[in-house]
Amino acid sequence: MAWDFETDPDFQKKLDWMDGFVREEIEPLDLVFRGPSDPFDPARRGPAHAMAPLKKIVQKEGLWACHLGPELGGKGYGQVKLGLMNEILGRSRFAPTVFGSQAPDTGNAEILARFGSPEQKKRYLEPLLAGEIASCYSMTEPHAGADPAEFTCRAELVGDEWVINGEKWYASHADFSRFLLVVVVTDTTVPIHKGASILIVDRDAPGLEVVRNVSSTIMEEIGEGVHGYLRFTNCRVPKENILGNPGQGFEVAQSRLGGGRIHHAMRTVGQLKRALDMMCERALSRRTKGELLSQKQLTQEKIADSYIQITQFRLHVLYAAWMIDKHQAYTREVRREIAAVKSCMPTVLRDVVYRALHLHGSLGLSNETPLLALWQVVPEMGIVDGPTEVHKFGVAKEVLRDRKGTEGLFPSYHLPELIAAAERKLASSIELDVGNL
Ligand SMILES: Cc1cc2nc3c(=O)[nH]c(=O)nc-3n(C[C@H](O)[C@H](O)[C@H](O)COP(=O)(O)OP(=O)(O)OC[C@H]3O[C@@H](n4cnc5c(N)ncnc54)[C@H](O)[C@@H]3O)c2cc1C
Repeated sequence: MAWDFETDPDFQKKLDWMDGFVREEIEPLDLVFRGPSDPFDPARRGPAHAMAPLKKIVQKEGLWACHLGPELGGKGYGQVKLGLMNEILGRSRFAPTVFGSQAPDTGNAEILARFGSPEQKKRYLEPLLAGEIASCYSMTEPHAGADPAEFTCRAELVGDEWVINGEKWYASHADFSRFLLVVVVTDTTVPIHKGASILIVDRDAPGLEVVRNVSSTIMEEIGEGVHGYLRFTNCRVPKENILGNPGQGFEVAQSRLGGGRIHHAMRTVGQLKRALDMMCERALSRRTKGELLSQKQLTQEKIADSYIQITQFRLHVLYAAWMIDKHQAYTREVRREIAAVKSCMPTVLRDVVYRALHLHGSLGLSNETPLLALWQVVPEMGIVDGPTEVHKFGVAKEVLRDRKGTEGLFPSYHLPELIAAAERKLASSIELDVGNL
């Protein structure tokens, strides 16, 4: 099979159109509407008003909510194409919403389309896909994140209703979402991977309280932010609000993560390229000691290292996307590549953004370029959607899976044994060689 790193010309035209549209029409919104929830909260009237005509244009171009597969009523572009689209969307905070591709709504729509009943699709998926409402995915708890076995937020079936009790933490967009997909323990007698379920909870369900909002930037006051600290106190939802079957929660959840991680990684590539653009522009403009920064070898090294890391990372993400398209399933190999990409993302972002900041000197450390905001995202990348360690563990597990250790005293690559075996195999040739001496 041929290797091909090219984008087909028709799709490239769409990407070129997207690139111009994002730069010219959407990026101005980033500059004017700078509140943390502005791109996500449909109730923010100014941003919603500015986005409405842009969304219509995207829909007319046939590029709205492209993440759903054809069997689910979407375009069926596959992950490579979606990745390339997200690379462009990553430049702007507003772009994913304008293109109907905003997390967590994308993943939520995916699992609603895959596992939802016709009623659930009508009530939740349709307005979500139309961009009319926001949604939330709530799994992390205040005392437990990376290890789901520690989750304690419970739901019990009482009559025709699920009764939920417990707390959730860092539930993005919870406060202004119309509904939440909440991971709850429904069976404590089996391991969590078989005993958790996902319930659809309306934001105004009695017993659901936003204890406070939490922010991931230091600029906001305590209580502000877009991530919800939630408490469920005898919160009741109808029995039919389960997504999939009881105990199927993790299976349902898993199916939303693969594509989402690729899109997130490609949006990060978009941000990395933007940081490199800034680095180059500055290096080609700023003079010191009689020459431009770009003429200094230590600056050239920063630019070269950044370009190399971004290119390696980008190709790895696209490779993972290609694997998903090829296998059409989250096989072990596919999961290994997705985890590998997720694991190295914080390092690449840290290295490139740090170099860009540093090269800008005090201007880089000011609030007058996009770099400081980008720097703040660096540690987030290693935590959101699971800590780096957990993903690295997954990579190592897969890499080690089909290998075995040494049975004898020395390893299989111990040269004395290898040479002796090779000499036995090539004895007749060696004899002739000795005869030549
Ligand atoms: C910006 C942002 C948005 C988020 N949005 C959502 C959301 O919408 N919904 C949601 O449910 N959650 C969300 N989260 C929460 C996120 O999923 C969790 O923060 C993440 O899973 C880690 O859980 P934790 O914070 O409890 O960290 P912990 O599980 O306490 O881990 C803390 C640290 O312990 C170490 N560690 C943990 N496990 C291991 C291990 N197995 N081996 C070695 N070291 C380990 C790592 O250093 C890790 O960073 C969001 C988080 C952020 C930062």
